[in-house]
Amino acid sequence: MTEERENWVSQVKVLRQMIENTPPSLSNSLWTACTEDKPAQSRFLADADTDIAIIGGGVTGLSAALHLAEAGQNVRVLEAQSPGWGASGRNGGQLNPGLHNDPEQVVRDFGPEMGARMLALSSGAPAYTMALIARLGLQCDAVMPGWIQPGHTTRVMRTLADRARQWAAHGVDLHMLDAHETAAILGTDIYQGALLHPNGANLHPLNYTRGLAKAAQRAGAVIHTDTPVTDITREGSAHVLHTPQATLRARRVIVCTNGYTGDIAPPLGRTLVPVVSAQVATAPLPAALLEKILPQRHAASDTRRVMVYYKRDGAGRLLMGGRGDYNETTTLKLQENLRQITRQMFPELRDTPFDYAWGGNVAMTIDHYPHLSPLGPDMLGATGYNGRGMALATAMGRVLRDWAMGAPAHTLDFPLTPARPIPFHWARKPAVRAAVKLYQLQDALRL
Ligand SMILES: Cc1cc2nc3c(=O)[nH]c(=O)nc-3n(C[C@H](O)[C@H](O)[C@H](O)COP(=O)(O)OP(=O)(O)OC[C@H]3O[C@@H](n4cnc5c(N)ncnc54)[C@H](O)[C@@H]3O)c2cc1C
Repeated sequence: MTEERENWVSQVKVLRQMIENTPPSLSNSLWTACTEDKPAQSRFLADADTDIAIIGGGVTGLSAALHLAEAGQNVRVLEAQSPGWGASGRNGGQLNPGLHNDPEQVVRDFGPEMGARMLALSSGAPAYTMALIARLGLQCDAVMPGWIQPGHTTRVMRTLADRARQWAAHGVDLHMLDAHETAAILGTDIYQGALLHPNGANLHPLNYTRGLAKAAQRAGAVIHTDTPVTDITREGSAHVLHTPQATLRARRVIVCTNGYTGDIAPPLGRTLVPVVSAQVATAPLPAALLEKILPQRHAASDTRRVMVYYKRDGAGRLLMGGRGDYNETTTLKLQENLRQITRQMFPELRDTPFDYAWGGNVAMTIDHYPHLSPLGPDMLGATGYNGRGMALATAMGRVLRDWAMGAPAHTLDFPLTPARPIPFHWARKPAVRAAVKLYQLQDALRL
């Protein structure tokens, strides 16, 4: 092969690894570099009717589509790019149980009956996802060693112990680990201890999402790619979804656009704050280091206010995730910061190269809950996972199926809540930056 041809081939390989239509700092994803083929691509080109239309082909939309198609419903997904292009194909691959808020808070906010259903849905979500993966035969490197929340301070350790107590009251056994046990599981001795959620799992998120899309297609769902919904209007009792080439008339619509929600279904976009989360991944580690760093492949989410999250992939790379920014230069700096944090936590990695750096949008909500929000008759938004949607969005697919098939709201396993716009939403970017600065200071002072 000539030198010129060699250069061209290596450039093509690099280009193929990148997430398309994404800023460079967020595009060099480990997951797109080693993934299975995309599901069959088909743009939406001719006007059509469907019973249920789903906007967004991430885990929320695809799980809903799968559950609906398996129930014999006529369902179409309209995805602006391709399945898994959003957060679902870019994330840390952790299937974390529970909600951001602890059980007593959930019961206070939603009452004992609905609260208990939300806790059962969310704590059982990783096991539900693992069972779905097994049933559908998805190849996505899924393992279930548990999820760790390690703590740096006595205050955090007390919070973790209290969390374990609250979950025990709902029949979920979590285990407190001391510093020694935590170091043996994580391979770093920087923590005072940890809370182990035995029901946590982790996987290759893009392969999982693409697998889910293919399974939904096999079950009869139609998925249109490269098809952004640009407007939604009404014609009698039907919703009309406008796209660049054609319109889709639907009886019911589910909007699953999460951290990429624009203006299509107001006020949904103003109920969320998209926050950039970034990741880096090392080259595969040698066998000796794999025996020390996350030897059983647990996934971990640090409990600092400005947290980092980490896990290993099937090829023995260490992934470290944390905050990114809306600005390219700042995100590149934050990714360098993640490399430094990795070397501080695991000094053995001081000479290990980092091969990938990428990221995407997480959808945060003011009350830290995801929301199923009615957006007019027969239209529901399903968004706001606050950075932990992989398992929960999978389980939510079941709830969305029930809603779309007409189950009364009070029988669903997750509440319907009004879409409440966040005041001063226009100021979200400076507000996020200011909040992060404050949290960093609190972390540094170990408050
Ligand atoms: C870097 C990062 C790390 C994360 N780590 C974890 C983790 O380890 N564990 C965990 O549980 N969660 C994690 N999360 C969060 C998790 O990825 C999300 O909660 C989950 O993927 C949400 O899925 P979704 O289907 O709701 O949204 P998405 O996967 O974001 O899908 C939304 C889709 O909507 C499409 N869309 C938007 N607008 C339109 C339109 N007008 N027309 C058509 N389509 C449209 C987009 O193209 C996109 O594909 C992470 C997120 C990020 C970004």
